[in-house]
Amino acid sequence: MSSTPDYADQLRLADLRVTRPRLAVLEAVYAHPHADTESIFSAVRVGLPDVSRQAVYDVLAALSASGLIRRIQPSGSVSRYESRVGDNHHHVVCRSCGVIADVDCAVGDTPCLTPSDPDGSLDGFDIDEAEVIYWGMCPDCSASQTSRSRP
Ligand SMILES: [Zn+2]
Ligand SMILES: [Zn+2]
Ligand SMILES: [Zn+2]
Repeated sequence: MSSTPDYADQLRLADLRVTRPRLAVLEAVYAHPHADTESIFSAVRVGLPDVSRQAVYDVLAALSASGLIRRIQPSGSVSRYESRVGDNHHHVVCRSCGVIADVDCAVGDTPCLTPSDPDGSLDGFDIDEAEVIYWGMCPDCSASQTSRSRP
């Protein structure tokens, strides 16, 4: 696994012009998986104090459209972005604090992309993504709930 992805190369491969805001946003998304727009905006501002909120929005939209990053939006949450793309992984979201973790799809195989289709009504559908969200309680929240309910 390469530890430092070459962001400029990634942009070029996606046919996007290499600009400082694009590099900074890409780097922020890599550094903060599942971060929302506000967190990415603050991270980008550290290196580029003059960047506007709108510029960050635009870059996030361009990077998502090109497939360099992935946008997810669990219900009740704002949009979040991640650099882990192309493996059809899923997410588990804590109902209490909203923390998000990755859940792998079967490695090397993506069974979710082959839905059961007993009556053939999906014939001709070209399916490329299965968005699965598991809901539950993260370890921290379930621990604090258990301790609270104890006398
Ligand atoms: Zn939690
Ligand atoms: Zn993820
Ligand atoms: Zn899956």
